[in-house]
Amino acid sequence: MFEKILIANRGEIALRIHRACREMGIHTVAVHSTADADAMHVRLADESVCIGPPAARDSYLNIPAILTAAAITGVDAIHPGIGFMSENAQFAEMVEEHGFTFIGPTPEHIRLMGDKVTAKQTVKALGLPTVPGSDGGVPTVEMAAKVAEEIGYPVLIKAAAGGGGKGMKVAQRPEDLVEAYQLARGEALAAFGNDEVYMEKYLTRPRHIEVQLLGDTHGNAVHFGERDCSIQRRHQKVIEEAPSPGLNADERNKIGELAAKVVRDLGYRGVGTIEFLYENGKFYFIEMNTRLQIEHTISEMITGVDLVREQIRVAAGLPLSYKQSEIVFTGHAIECRINAENPDTFTPSPGKVSDFHAPGGLGVRVDSALYDGYRVPPHYDSMIAKLIVHGSNRNECLLRLRRGLEEFVIGGIDTTLPLHRRIISQPDFINGDYDIHWLEGFLGLK
Ligand code: ADP
Repeated sequence: MFEKILIANRGEIALRIHRACREMGIHTVAVHSTADADAMHVRLADESVCIGPPAARDSYLNIPAILTAAAITGVDAIHPGIGFMSENAQFAEMVEEHGFTFIGPTPEHIRLMGDKVTAKQTVKALGLPTVPGSDGGVPTVEMAAKVAEEIGYPVLIKAAAGGGGKGMKVAQRPEDLVEAYQLARGEALAAFGNDEVYMEKYLTRPRHIEVQLLGDTHGNAVHFGERDCSIQRRHQKVIEEAPSPGLNADERNKIGELAAKVVRDLGYRGVGTIEFLYENGKFYFIEMNTRLQIEHTISEMITGVDLVREQIRVAAGLPLSYKQSEIVFTGHAIECRINAENPDTFTPSPGKVSDFHAPGGLGVRVDSALYDGYRVPPHYDSMIAKLIVHGSNRNECLLRLRRGLEEFVIGGIDTTLPLHRRIISQPDFINGDYDIHWLEGFLGLK
């Protein structure tokens, strides 16, 4: 097992990884920008190294600085966390070339799934159902028009290098196509430096259902059930729950087994998630994330498995600690992502946290790097806390979530706590009756 791990990330996820390491007896090295010198992950880590100025490209995305910090502190492995370097195949390669273990899949698997066109072709060949659409990239607007005629409107134009919902545009009618196509390509180029796009049928009432997976280097793979991440704004997840209120046990087992088989067939190591849209009883693959996800927490709550611990064990070459039959699902879990943003306008609200009180009690978990007096820097993602609750059934979970949100105090800055309180009191949410467009409808954005 590793003796020392460098955590190449910040915020709550850096803390999450530190906690798993601590419990495994592994020493931690935090890296941080000058803006994060007082951050919680820096305070708690055994050692810390400043890797650059606030801008992420100069610090958390600065490969030479991260590798130098790893060499100076003599770590065995590097955990990339979520975002930043976590899906950068070149980084994974360089980490290994410098003699450290990358806690994640091989660079080949990251590259394969990072290109959404090849990812879709690969999983289709392995037996997963995909959204009807173009066979590969769509390089011209003439071809886009032809594909749209074949699959029927509305259609979605998506960036091959996509992520975070960027470079994605809907064309409701033929008249919208040229503009949507050009906007998607422009946005893709600006966000990813790659303007390749592909096309899919735009599904009008799907749920977003994803399966948590784990594979080892000995040919084993298991699934940890599904998460429903349909409560989204601008294609970004806001609330997630496990299990999904929209699936029955039979559908759950089938999609879990199918996704685990793909991981096994690929010889994939580490944690990963296969995402699907689900409509009218059918699943359609949309992408695979080759890393830990923010919402991994709810799968942990219903299975009792520490996924970060498993991820580290697998990276160290150990076989999985669980057989599929040993992964038992208990109760229900929901996570709210709390952002430092105005809850009505979603304008970021960095600044000093003057009051911080996290809820607690049975079945309540808060993953956050906040503390009283902490200054939320303006340079990074605005998510500042995750409230995760577990109950023996969905109803208990909802009541506990309401209680947890009532108790939560974050003063001095605007947060999306009031938005969460509103969402969870809506009858549609309480009944589990929602799809990926529900939240935008509720917010009056459609
Ligand atoms: P990204 O990599 O940018 O996150 P995804 O392919 O994972 O892109 O899609 C993100 C979200 O966009 C999905 O959760 C869903 O809400 C929406 N979406 C993606 N594909 C479709 C589709 N074919 N029809 C309708 N909505 C879609």
